[in-house]
Amino acid sequence: MSSSKRIYLDNNSTTAAAPEVVDAMTRAFTAGYGNPASQHAEGRAARALLEEARETICRYLGAQVDEFRGDRLILTSGGTESNNLALRGISAQRRGQILVSAIEHPSVSRVVDDLARRGTPVLQIPVNSHGVLDLDALQQLLRVETSLVSVMLGNNETGVLQPIQEISAICELAEVPLHTDATQAVGKIAVDFRQLAVSALTFAAHKFHGPRGIGGLLIKNSVSIQADMFGGFQQSSLRPGTECVELALGMQKALELCCQDQQATTDALGQLRDRLESQLRQGWPDLVVLSDKVARLPQTLAIAFPGVDRQSLVMALDLAGIACSTGSACASGSSEVSPTLSAMGCPPPIVDSAIRLSVSRLNSMAEIDAAAESILSVVLRQKRVKTH
Ligand code: PLP
Repeated sequence: MSSSKRIYLDNNSTTAAAPEVVDAMTRAFTAGYGNPASQHAEGRAARALLEEARETICRYLGAQVDEFRGDRLILTSGGTESNNLALRGISAQRRGQILVSAIEHPSVSRVVDDLARRGTPVLQIPVNSHGVLDLDALQQLLRVETSLVSVMLGNNETGVLQPIQEISAICELAEVPLHTDATQAVGKIAVDFRQLAVSALTFAAHKFHGPRGIGGLLIKNSVSIQADMFGGFQQSSLRPGTECVELALGMQKALELCCQDQQATTDALGQLRDRLESQLRQGWPDLVVLSDKVARLPQTLAIAFPGVDRQSLVMALDLAGIACSTGSACASGSSEVSPTLSAMGCPPPIVDSAIRLSVSRLNSMAEIDAAAESILSVVLRQKRVKTH
C-alpha cells in the first residue's frame, strides 16, 4: 500500500493537527510574538490573545470564569506534566495516603510510585472485569486523612468511562480532593469541569487535533496546590516560564472545533468506531471486544484475536498500511503487559492478542470499511502462519 493510502487508527496516541489549528497558530506567530509578561504594546497584544484563549478554553470545559473566585487553568506541556503537577502539587498541601485507580496511565501511576518511594502511602483502587472502578473498595479505602484521589475519566486502552460524578460525591463527603485525568476524553465527549465536581482535571491538545507540547490542568478555586517547578511569576508561579501564545491559540482553536457541537463530534466518532467493530465481529466470530458491556469513549476499540500475537499483528498491519497500537502509546514498542488489562483480570490469550484501534473525525467511513477488510485478511494470514 502506498503511503498516501495509509489509514491512521492510532488517534489515542496522537491526532493530526486540524488545518484550522495550523492556520490559527500561523497567525499567532505574527500577532502574538511579544512576551505576554512584557509591559510594552507587543507584550500586551500577546497577553490579550493568551487571556482570550484561556477564557475560551475554560468556557468550553465548563470551568468557572471569574476574575476573583474563578477556577484556575494552568497551561502545561501536556497530559504528563498536568498529571505530575496535580499529584505532587495537591498531595503536598495535605498529609496522608493517595488513592489511585489500578488502570491509570503511567503519567499518574509512575508519579505515585515515586511518591511512595519517598514515603507517601499509596493505595490502588481495584476495577472490575469490565474495567470500571470498584466504588465499595474506594469507600473502604478512603480516610479523612487521604490527601488525594486520582481516577481517570476515560481509559486510554479500552475507552472505559469511570463514574466520576459518583466518585466525586464519595470524595466530597470525606472532604478529599479528586483529580481526574481527562486526556482521552476532552474533545471526544462533553466534559464539564463543574458538573463533574472534581478538584482538578488534566487534558492535552494533541489528543483532539491540537498541537503537541501544550495541555492544561484545571483547578477548582477552593483547592490549594503547590508549585513543582520554580522560576518567574508566570501563571501565579505555579508553572513559571514564558507562556507560548501560539500553542495556546492552537489549543483554543482545536477545542472550539470539537466542542462547538460536541454531540455531533461524539456521534460521528461513535459511528466510525461502531462500524469498525461490527464489521470485525461479522468477519471474525471469535473476536473479543474489551469492555463492550459498559460505557466507553466513542473513539476507542480494544479488541483481541485469541491465538494471534499482538506485536506481530501490529507490525503486519503497519506493513498493510494501517497504523494502530498494542495499547498505551508509552508502552507501544515494548512487550510490557498492559496494566489496564491485568487489572481487569483478562486471561493471557486476551492480553497477548489485544490491540487498540482509535478513530478520529478525520477518518472516513470508506477508510473504516477498507481497514476492516485489511485487518481481517491480515489476521487470517497470521492465524494460518501459526497453525502451519
Ligand atoms: N493520560 C492519558 C490517559 C493518556 O492517554 C496520555 C497519553 O497517551 C497521557 C496522560 C499523557 O499525555 P501526553 O502525551 O500529552 O503527556
